[in-house]
Amino acid sequence: MPFNRIYAQDIALDMLRRTLTTDQVGHAYLFYGPEGIGKRTSALAYAKALNCADPASREAGDYCDACRSCRMITLGQHPDVRLLTPETCGDKTVIPIDAIRTKSGENSPHPLPLREDAQLKPVEGRHKVYILDPANRPGLQEDAGNALLLTVEEPPAHVVMILISSRPTAMLPTLVSRCRPVRFHLAPRETILQALRELNTVSPEQATAIAGMADGRIGWAVSCASNPKMLEARQALLSEVDHLLPAGRPAALRLAELLHNLAMLADGEDDTKSKDRAVRRNLPDLLDVTASWWRDLLIGEIGEREMRINQDFAAALDRHAGRLPAGHLQQGLQAIVQTKRLIERNANIDLALERMWITALP
Ligand SMILES: [Zn+2]
Repeated sequence: MPFNRIYAQDIALDMLRRTLTTDQVGHAYLFYGPEGIGKRTSALAYAKALNCADPASREAGDYCDACRSCRMITLGQHPDVRLLTPETCGDKTVIPIDAIRTKSGENSPHPLPLREDAQLKPVEGRHKVYILDPANRPGLQEDAGNALLLTVEEPPAHVVMILISSRPTAMLPTLVSRCRPVRFHLAPRETILQALRELNTVSPEQATAIAGMADGRIGWAVSCASNPKMLEARQALLSEVDHLLPAGRPAALRLAELLHNLAMLADGEDDTKSKDRAVRRNLPDLLDVTASWWRDLLIGEIGEREMRINQDFAAALDRHAGRLPAGHLQQGLQAIVQTKRLIERNANIDLALERMWITALP
């Protein structure tokens, strides 16, 4: 029962399974909810269930995860299941829908525009599934969004579109209104801990730290625990913060450089993307790690040590107790959170990081 392997999204998944067992599969869905909680995993799982070749699984509204179709989807090689992800090139966002619209552009992963491609019968499976993640990129408000809208408005019977968004309010309203909404929720901390225990890739102390930083984002927690490079980056970052904290502001530049370099290396998946994109993708997670350390110091000052996130760094945190007054820690924490937002909005990375450390360090 592989749907059961997805944690903490029972309501959404039960709803999706019912569409399969009652033969009421929709043509367009909007999977929405916060980042990192399993929307994309669930979309791929639904694509598997829609095309699974195993009769018993199909009967149960599930997928086997073992047949040729399921395996091809796992590998990203199923000809009828397409994951479309907007990409950033310099300061411009390139949306794959644009790429689809160019008939034979070299960067195009698809030979046909979406609307034409959608008209063709599935090659292997029963359904053609297009997953667009994230569906709230600015470009999708305009031309590309309208092209998508046309496909969603008159879909061929075999097409299922899944739009994924953490901010559906930023989407073209006409597009949203054509989709069946499926809401995804944050997971309780205990559920995340349970998932990490079952995954068994990290120590109990690391699991506590990851669950604490995850803030309900179970998908983020699982991918963090499965990415040794991110775990190494966290370890290196916290060790260096521990080491350099007593040096105070003169260490700001060095810590800014360290964060930048770690973000470049902390990529678990592919190394084909440019370094700059890797940095922008990984920095928010490393800033969460940094914020968790400041939060732990602050919690130490108010005497709630067992509520610390970084339990595996308890001794180091104890060593720094009393070094910074609570007011200063609070200010540092705010600077870190704000820097994360600035970087997500394309601010200059080195400048933002240096300023952050100057505010946060004593
Ligand atoms: Zn299967």
